[in-house]
Amino acid sequence: MSQIVENRINEIYEQVVRRNPGEAEFHQAVKEVIETLGVVLARHPEYLDQKLIERICEPERQIIFRVPWVDDAGEIHINRGFRVQFSSALGPYKGGLRFHPSVYLGIIKFLGFEQIFKNALTGMPIGGAKGGSDFDPKGKSDNEIMRFCQSFMTELHRHLGEYIDVPAGDIGVGGREIGYLFGQYKRLTNRYEAGVLTGKGMSYGGSLVRREATGYGLAFFMKEMLATRGQDFAGKRCLVSGSGNVAIYAIEKVHELGGKVIACSDSNGVIYDENGINIETVKRLKEVERRRISDYKEFHPNADYRANGNIWEIPCDVALPCATQNELNEASAIKLLNNGCMAVAEGANMPTTPAAIKLFREAKILYGPGKATNAGGVATSALEMQQNACRDSWNFDFTETKLEGIMQGIHASCFETAAEYGFPGDYLIGANIAGFRKVADAMIPLGLI
Ligand code: GLU
Repeated sequence: MSQIVENRINEIYEQVVRRNPGEAEFHQAVKEVIETLGVVLARHPEYLDQKLIERICEPERQIIFRVPWVDDAGEIHINRGFRVQFSSALGPYKGGLRFHPSVYLGIIKFLGFEQIFKNALTGMPIGGAKGGSDFDPKGKSDNEIMRFCQSFMTELHRHLGEYIDVPAGDIGVGGREIGYLFGQYKRLTNRYEAGVLTGKGMSYGGSLVRREATGYGLAFFMKEMLATRGQDFAGKRCLVSGSGNVAIYAIEKVHELGGKVIACSDSNGVIYDENGINIETVKRLKEVERRRISDYKEFHPNADYRANGNIWEIPCDVALPCATQNELNEASAIKLLNNGCMAVAEGANMPTTPAAIKLFREAKILYGPGKATNAGGVATSALEMQQNACRDSWNFDFTETKLEGIMQGIHASCFETAAEYGFPGDYLIGANIAGFRKVADAMIPLGLI
């Protein structure tokens, strides 16, 4: 990389840090992308002249709003709502909503920034955005969740539309929340505009496979990565952190593909089951009864529960972090490598710290970054939008086949781009460059906007 390009990248990063003080996760996400773009900028000086990175790092619009609601005891609460509409170069803003007490502007911006490139990689016509609230859904009644969602949408609805901005779920926002949000949107706008939200229930315009899509897509991507080394899932011991929507369907598909998931987790601890995690039990605990993963032992007494345990200490071949950002640090990466782990793919967004990523890349094990490997969720959201637009509904197998084809396409584009730029097998570089180029090439013809 030439000194000029390197200096420009450093300047851009410093400007992002100055302009977005205190937003550590956003700084991390920007750094991880732009420090891999030197080779592209050297080949395409027009990207520098057009200040494309500077433009992409500045969201097109940021919305922050008050969300007042009343709990079951009659007490008033005030939360903060966010929607960061990052880029509409490729299509309407698209990305999930996260309800979690850790949410602040820096989290939403890191997620929105990643979403731009992830959505570009899918090859579908969707821009990048993210939103959410510091509301904690844990322990809230159904009615409290409904009132919160209605209040949240009462403000947000004026910024949405099937051609404007199309939210979906993320941590803390699943089918139940999307239902309440859609109901309120419909009521406020007096429009049955199915394409304004994705992840909807099947009774009001949802798509089959959307619920399974992120986890299934992750397993499909890993299957492709393994194949590049002449391997498959058969007999592989796998760890899947988390036990939410992504983790559940990753486990299900890994099992279908012949792998064995021996552990999963939640924010309280790790469950280790040498017989293979029983997915029906996890679904019942997490999707139906909304209980903790420690209760798994009630149904499988031979399993081992480790309160506050570190899942990455368990020896495995394949690791799939599917919980949350920065959950897999340098010490855990060392453990995984020492135990012979040969492949890591991210189901969560930015779950691996920069120091841990460095170790995986240096060790030349297979490492798939989330913006490529977890793109199956948003890709199937785009399939849901397609079905809504033509008032159609596809069957499960047809939709799943489409998802698998999209994941194969993303894999091929990361793999080929990495090789084209001189970094064969480096999926991080391949994903960043392929995603960036797609957005950049769409922006130039639109002029300075
Ligand atoms: N929240 C998911 C993601 O991180 C899905 C977003 C969507 O379907 O719009 O990609």
